[in-house]
Amino acid sequence: MSSVLVREAAYAYQTLKPLLFDLFSSLDHGAIRKNSRVLIKPNLLAPATPDRAMITHPLIVRAAVEYVLERGGLPQVSDSPAIGSFDRVMKESGIAEALQGLAVDCRPFTKSVFVTVGPPFQKIEVAADAMNADVVINLPKLKTHTQMLMTLGVKNIFGCIVGTRKPEWHFRTGIDRDKFAELLVRIYAAVRPAITILDGILAMEGQGPGKGGRPRELNIVMASEDAVALDAVVCRMLGIGGDELLTNRAAVRMGLMPEKIVIDGELPVVTDMQFPEMSPLVFGPKRLHGFMRKHLVQRPVCNDSRCRHCGECWRYCPAKAIEPQIKGLKFDYDKCIRCYCCIEVCPHAALSARETMLGKAVRKTVKKG
Ligand code: SF4
Ligand code: SF4
Repeated sequence: MSSVLVREAAYAYQTLKPLLFDLFSSLDHGAIRKNSRVLIKPNLLAPATPDRAMITHPLIVRAAVEYVLERGGLPQVSDSPAIGSFDRVMKESGIAEALQGLAVDCRPFTKSVFVTVGPPFQKIEVAADAMNADVVINLPKLKTHTQMLMTLGVKNIFGCIVGTRKPEWHFRTGIDRDKFAELLVRIYAAVRPAITILDGILAMEGQGPGKGGRPRELNIVMASEDAVALDAVVCRMLGIGGDELLTNRAAVRMGLMPEKIVIDGELPVVTDMQFPEMSPLVFGPKRLHGFMRKHLVQRPVCNDSRCRHCGECWRYCPAKAIEPQIKGLKFDYDKCIRCYCCIEVCPHAALSARETMLGKAVRKTVKKG
């Protein structure tokens, strides 16, 4: 059995700090004590101000640091941003300013250690700071995600994979989203944060988790010792079926989904959250999958009038499927594994995932049949 604490909240520090301290003290069970090394892992995807809802809000990070300090622990705030340097993300997000005057170590993940996670992945490299900490505090942001539907507690721990290893893992899991979801759950289980507090006060909907998404007020924080349970409760709040979030599905397969989840607090019902279109990557007879992937499956497209040719997408693309043109970009849809990392890292919201007309029509026909 796992418990998930649900609280209404706003970004006003005089009320947010006691609320979060209360959540932390309900969950830490004395684990954070004098000289404990406590790794705090927010979502620091890319440089962005808090009103874009892309990163964990600075006041939530501040409250976590202050809580650790009050318990005599040694807080460290770290992540491995997909784009921009760690220092730039800390500055533009306002987190650096929010932490001013506090005795906290802020630095990007750089070193990794090998962790055995079992088949089919065997050994994976995970940030040494996360594996060596006495306690890990996970501070995800509630956001939609073009590839995985949402990024919540479990997915946030993927940030403990350092730098270019992230796109490499996308490439290794390829077009198989279930396999990628299993990888995410295995990394989460290896790091096993003691406390997860989700920032859903200003969440993100639409084609998240980057600049293509839209901020959406939900005024909620959730906390749990079990991020799998927390993610399941978010799905319940948003009317998402138990197995629609692939990491939930993988957690069930791996025996990590608790049989019973107790909700402490009032769970709101949100019926109009806008999710990205999640059309299947392949469907119908197997012999047609190659053709489908090239011509029918939802694909990244570029809005040329927004593209500034900054190069973030083609540098990050794990399949090397993007080529700059004089105007806009050229995608090699044979190579493209539909990870949508390009959409995630585009700083100008120039990319989106679109289903082809033919793909839409064929999928509907296959469904009917
Ligand atoms: S699509 Fe976005 S990330 Fe790619 S080059 Fe254009 S502006 Fe940069
Ligand atoms: S083009 Fe975009 S969606 Fe396709 S593999 Fe590259 S990053 Fe992933």
